[in-house]
Amino acid sequence: MFLSKLPPLVLLAIMSTSAIAEDINLRSTGETQWYRGNMHTHSLWSDGDDYPEMIAAWYKEQGYSFNVFTDHNVLLHGERWIDVEKNKGGKIAFDKLTAKFDGDWVQTRTKDERLQVRLKNFDQIFDRLAVPQKFLLIQGEEITDGYRNLPVHMCVTNTTELLPPLHGESIVEVMQQNINAAVSRRERTGEKSLVHLNHPNFHYAITAEQLMQVIGENFFEVYNGHPTVNDSGDDTHPSTSRMWDIINTWRLAKLDLPVMYGLATDDGHAYHKTKPGDGAQPGRGWVMVLAKTLTPDALVTALEARQFYSSSGVTLNSIAVTNESMTVTVAADVDTSYRIDFIGTRKDFDDTTSPAVDDEKKSSGLTRRYSKDVGIVLKSSTEDSATYEFTGDELYVRAVVTSSRQHPNPSEPGDFQQAWVQPVVPIER
Ligand SMILES: [Zn+2]
Ligand SMILES: [Zn+2]
Repeated sequence: MFLSKLPPLVLLAIMSTSAIAEDINLRSTGETQWYRGNMHTHSLWSDGDDYPEMIAAWYKEQGYSFNVFTDHNVLLHGERWIDVEKNKGGKIAFDKLTAKFDGDWVQTRTKDERLQVRLKNFDQIFDRLAVPQKFLLIQGEEITDGYRNLPVHMCVTNTTELLPPLHGESIVEVMQQNINAAVSRRERTGEKSLVHLNHPNFHYAITAEQLMQVIGENFFEVYNGHPTVNDSGDDTHPSTSRMWDIINTWRLAKLDLPVMYGLATDDGHAYHKTKPGDGAQPGRGWVMVLAKTLTPDALVTALEARQFYSSSGVTLNSIAVTNESMTVTVAADVDTSYRIDFIGTRKDFDDTTSPAVDDEKKSSGLTRRYSKDVGIVLKSSTEDSATYEFTGDELYVRAVVTSSRQHPNPSEPGDFQQAWVQPVVPIER
């Protein structure tokens, strides 16, 4: 099982380079360690099919350091009773719950001759399952908004206050209004929350041109483990990876906006399926965050400082960035080979674009076509460790590591295990 194969505390070494454009100055020391976490989870509080304490226990048993509950427009707060059988998990979920949590934990009552169970709230689950510096649970929310019939969803990590969807007159406005609300709440309360855009290709709702415009927070899901979110796109829609390159090229070259980071998340809904590839099962994608301590504040601070990478199965030993180069080293598994691709866009790139399809009306809702210069492979290596020397003419450089092993439980058939290293902006020389 690949989940248990992760080395315990693999340390990241980003070299001390105070002169680098984005002021990366990280070095792995005894003071920092890797925390593996999932930032997108659904439970019976919304449309997931299991009890939140069962989900928390699953992540804990799989060796994760943290999990964020992000139910749709609801926090795990207050009193909520549900019918034992008439819910997404039904009798199976209830039986598993009572088997795992015996004694007084499970509260039931009979109402209108139906057996009901009370959903545990966040504090109860935290008290029961969190372990200081070992396993953390974080209250979050998936702000579930939309524009016309298109879903616009944004996960907030770490909020004790519900953020209701605020709507807007365009896709961009819907994203921006919700980001603004999350950011101003954070400024008002001092509670360090992070908001990220979910699954842009779900219903192909969000184009690269729309997403590149958002300001205030710079995270989106380059990988989401739900099988219906179209991470790899289709004939007329770019993959989320391709969107990432378009977005960062335009943000840096045209929009004067900071780099956008790419997260990997589960978006788990289906906890009783056992067949690989079936439904939105947990355990498909996660982040590895290098932080000083396992608290929501420290994790959000580290994420915003780019002290993380995203993964669907590949573990890295180190990411070293200096003024001159970027080195990625894989924690290689036996009998597994890896390809490390350094990807970026050069400053003199061809910036011509064209509509995705000839039909003018249809093309307005589609990401445009961009030249091959956007997001080119600058260097490719099949060693377990590879270095890319900056020439200074790159807008940004990121890396993606692809394993020779297929994902054991893929959201899309044929997916290989990967790791996504966040974009770096080299200094001019
Ligand atoms: Zn969603
Ligand atoms: Zn979701």
